[in-house]
Amino acid sequence: MYILTLFPGMFPPVFNTSIIKRAQEQDLVRIRTVDIRGFAKDAHKTVDDYPYGGGPGMVLKPEPVYEAVDWIKQELGREPFVVLLTPQGRRFSAGLARQLAQKPDLVLIAGHYEGFDERIRCLAHMEVSVGDYVLTGGELAAMVVLDASIRFVPGVLGDKESALQDSFSDGLLEGPQYTRPAEFRGMKVPEILLAGRHEDISRWRRKEAIRRTLKRRPDLLETACLTFEDRCLLEQVIDEEKASEARGDNCGHHKTN
Ligand code: SAM
Repeated sequence: MYILTLFPGMFPPVFNTSIIKRAQEQDLVRIRTVDIRGFAKDAHKTVDDYPYGGGPGMVLKPEPVYEAVDWIKQELGREPFVVLLTPQGRRFSAGLARQLAQKPDLVLIAGHYEGFDERIRCLAHMEVSVGDYVLTGGELAAMVVLDASIRFVPGVLGDKESALQDSFSDGLLEGPQYTRPAEFRGMKVPEILLAGRHEDISRWRRKEAIRRTLKRRPDLLETACLTFEDRCLLEQVIDEEKASEARGDNCGHHKTN
């Protein structure tokens, strides 16, 4: 995975930490930052220029970006999959992260300044946005895209951390998680998690994932893959939520009283 950026120094603190650091040490992923400025031809290493027709800000020039991608192609000996980070791109999601994780040679281009020369778009196989807001540069977007995609590279997460249990992996949000102590400031861990009956625990987890999705992102339920049993759980949850509303409950935690 290559990241084309004007600020390579932003990446090491993020990628030399935790799971991504371990993935690189195990050779499961290889991340390289490529400084676009290194491909500028003039003595001043110019990578931006004024916009034709006037207007605010500076525009990233096409030449160094094209040169950088050519250099990567040469180094790889094959065509990489090039993603341009832009707020105008396809909205990033878990599905897209999974798709990008399967690309053996991924290049992310992080823009900066007011934007990039339109001809840079021709380099990209896909344009990706991390959300409907504008960042000062594509570096943070590249970190988000890489971090979320790397989680889907086989072997990066152990069984215990499996991405399959995460929110969105099957179209639902993940349900609540607890660790010790069993009671904290009057808030109790649900009894079922303490009883050690694995089937009951899986059913409870599935039901709570459905409940959380219903309460926070009901739109996801329209496209989630729900089994017959899930639909029964959904009906139960709807009934329980109506009853809870009628009682005026307002806290999901399991307090002692
Ligand atoms: N003027 C541009 C526009 O309206 O589309 C925004 C330029 S932004 C200040 C500079 C760079 O940050 C962009 O070229 C892009 O690479 C990156 N960027 C900003 N917001 C982003 C987002 N939501 N998703 C992905 N990249 C983003």
